[in-house]
Amino acid sequence: MSLVQLIYASRSTKPLDLDTVEAILSKAGRHNSECNITGFLAFDSNHFLQVLEGDARVVNDLYRRILTDPRHTRATLLLYRRIDRREFPLWAMGDCDLNGLANSPLARHSALRSFQPFEMTGEAALSLLTELNQIRIQGGAPHGI
Ligand code: FAD
Repeated sequence: MSLVQLIYASRSTKPLDLDTVEAILSKAGRHNSECNITGFLAFDSNHFLQVLEGDARVVNDLYRRILTDPRHTRATLLLYRRIDRREFPLWAMGDCDLNGLANSPLARHSALRSFQPFEMTGEAALSLLTELNQIRIQGGAPHGI
């Protein structure tokens, strides 16, 4: 098996609401568990930033499907690399609503104060997602919307 990590940013087609986020997370949770994909989805009202990890063929197939999803647009690949071990092994799809995050860690990972994932390098996106994952593990990150 060839393990890969993929990170992309996208823009939601319309301002995100609870129903849309819950529908995405519930589908992702079920499907990703079945396919042994792990990852994390961060979002605010208008953007998504997602990391996917798993077998290369399975991750590539999923990414192709995600690209055609009408709930978002302008999906932009920020990072794609082979990895020896997963960095987000705990969740089929962990999540964090950046709107509700006090003391946002955004400033540490980009020069921007608001969440503009298209402007981030792959490395900055990975370090932001890694920090959000840690906050989530410690129970400090809001999820859902
Ligand atoms: P179906 O669920 O049968 O859907 C058919 C088509 O309708 C697809 O094009 C689908 O994209 C679209 N669709 C489905 N539900 C809705 C809806 N409520 N409103 C509008 N269009 C809809 N899926 C995963 O399995 N794993 C993930 O990690 C994952 N991450 C995602 C992240 C984002 C930001 C988004 C927007 C979607 C994500 N999805 C994820 C969902 C993915 O895009 C597909 O919808 C899902 O994989 C189901 O595909 P399907 O072929 O079974 O189609």
